[in-house]
Amino acid sequence: MFWVYMGVIMLLPLYAQFKVKSTYNKYVRIRSTSGMTGAEVARMILDHNGLHDVKVVESKGFLSDHYNPLTKIVALSPQNYHEASVAGTAVAAHEVGHAIQDKEAYAFLRFRHRLAPVANITSNASWIFIIIGLVAQSMNSLLGIGILLMAVGVLFQIVTLPVEFNASSRAMNQIVELGIIRNEEEPHAKKVLSAAAMTYVAATAVAVLELLRLVLIFTNRND
Ligand SMILES: [Zn+2]
Repeated sequence: MFWVYMGVIMLLPLYAQFKVKSTYNKYVRIRSTSGMTGAEVARMILDHNGLHDVKVVESKGFLSDHYNPLTKIVALSPQNYHEASVAGTAVAAHEVGHAIQDKEAYAFLRFRHRLAPVANITSNASWIFIIIGLVAQSMNSLLGIGILLMAVGVLFQIVTLPVEFNASSRAMNQIVELGIIRNEEEPHAKKVLSAAAMTYVAATAVAVLELLRLVLIFTNRND
């Protein structure tokens, strides 16, 4: 049982990382029929949604694409920004999906933003309590506190999932509706977005398992 658990928490994230890289690398080589760069795709979808004030800039680093709700900037990694690929189209549309969520004050996104600073603090603090609680059996209550603090971070990761899936479904709707991709390109764009979503699912699964393991230790001690 222990080895199954270790296998899942160690291999699942690695597999998800491998999958997102290999899928991306495959579809970044396939030129999109629209011939639009990721930057052009992002601009077009933003303008179509009245988001003229949201800027599209180039970011540094492999798959560093993101949307910053504070600065209202869609940042695309160099390849996605400059090249016209199926992968770049999908990723650019996904990031704009977050900008649209922001504009519409999408509930999960708002909740995630409110939770972010709290989760940041509790996640960092939780380890101190957990480590002391684990080492010193007599201080099981500290372990309990650590678990509660850690649960806030896990909740944050769980809330990230609907935000990510929703951005991807918005992305697909937009690129289809605006005729940016053709029918035969649709499954390819979907594959890129699903692979990216998998990394969030894997990270969340690991976090939930870690939390459960600590809860089991905590409750066994209390018996
Ligand atoms: Zn996203």
